Amino acid sequence: MSVLEKMSSAAAIALEDKHGAHNYHPLPVVLSKGEGVYVWDVEGRRYYDFLSAYSAVNQGHCHPKIVGAMIQQAQTLTLTSRAFYNDKLGVYEEFVTNYFGFDKVLPMNTGAEAVETALKLCRKWAYEKKGIHENEAQIIVCDGNFHGRTTTIISFSNDENARKNFGPYTAGFIKIPYDDVEALEAALNSSNNIAGFLVEPIQGEAGVYTPAEDYLTKAKALCAAHNVLFIADEVQTGIARTGSILAVCGNCTCENKCEKQASYVAPDILILGKALSGGAYPVSAVLANDAIMNVIKPGQHGSTFGGNPIAGAVAIAALEVVDEENLSQNARRLGNIFREKLNEFIQTSTIATLVRGKGLLNAVVINDTEESDTAWNICMALRDNGLLAKPTHGNIIRFAPPLVMNEEQLLDCVSIIITTLKQFEK
Ligand SMILES: *Cc1c(COP(=O)(O)O)cnc(C)c1O
Repeated sequence: MSVLEKMSSAAAIALEDKHGAHNYHPLPVVLSKGEGVYVWDVEGRRYYDFLSAYSAVNQGHCHPKIVGAMIQQAQTLTLTSRAFYNDKLGVYEEFVTNYFGFDKVLPMNTGAEAVETALKLCRKWAYEKKGIHENEAQIIVCDGNFHGRTTTIISFSNDENARKNFGPYTAGFIKIPYDDVEALEAALNSSNNIAGFLVEPIQGEAGVYTPAEDYLTKAKALCAAHNVLFIADEVQTGIARTGSILAVCGNCTCENKCEKQASYVAPDILILGKALSGGAYPVSAVLANDAIMNVIKPGQHGSTFGGNPIAGAVAIAALEVVDEENLSQNARRLGNIFREKLNEFIQTSTIATLVRGKGLLNAVVINDTEESDTAWNICMALRDNGLLAKPTHGNIIRFAPPLVMNEEQLLDCVSIIITTLKQFEK
């Protein structure tokens, strides 16, 4: 069959199964079109997207401004490599550093690459600025973390599925419980070789674990006191998802971003990806001030595609959309409604035990074991009722729609979710 011919869902699934590595277990739905909060399958059925490609499509599917910027740049200049300058990169670098309030950006493509970049930057800073002896730097990470899939990153994962038989593992990481300030303090006191603390402001993949209100503030203060870099992985939580431009903004609602109000917890290194491009193109970034970023010299790190002109044009458009459409404010308001409605339902539910999250990054915990297939079956029923979501860790379902959703659509979705959950009440 020609790839241009219209294909049934069953045929598309069979084709992937036969020719693609089996490294994912997708929900059986084959999508062929997206617009705003909606996606359509090849049979023409419409669904609400409640995953948003793991929070990459915050600005909604095929946003005309983002796609327009991409097409225009694609017709002009796509890639030069960093062997030469291009006329878009500097413009983007100025834009993104002003936007987030850092001196410098190091552009990469995927989230995992940006995390790798941050780890390398942190180690190099530790040897050249902090004075740790070569090869002795330690970076503190958290139990339940998800930072990507490279060999180094899975070395400090505790997901056995992500780790097993991929060793030997990269050394130099200390794992502590998440949302535990005392454990962080003990780890910081345990050695003079601590270079950094890598943390997700909310643990998305682990099941949307939101830490105590003051966790990040206290963690940052401890890091500062120990001259240890506070590294925030906002690949999933960033770009308005949790109701402010970054999750480290806390409760700051300023529309001008980096007003750096009281609740802002300043990362020494900020890692962004996913919605930095609105899901149109792989764009990731590592941001830091000169005292840190300037340890990287020519030839010491790079990427052929990192900082390409399309990425720059797309990311500027994607960030402008966040401001123009008030996506932070919308995520905050709709998130409050979502949790309020689900909490009401949970009062009397036997199938759902808990809803948690911030902004429009939320999860519902299903009353069954992690090994059960109840959450998967609920997601299948949600699909049949016109809404796409995916379990994370067995009995937890993450709900993260595009942030361009309106209140009427959200209430429609809440009704689909509650009706579906009711089908599973015992
Ligand atoms: C998705 C994610 C990554 C990895 O991003 P990729 O683009 O898939 O490599 C890293 N950190 C967090 C917190 C993520 O959610």
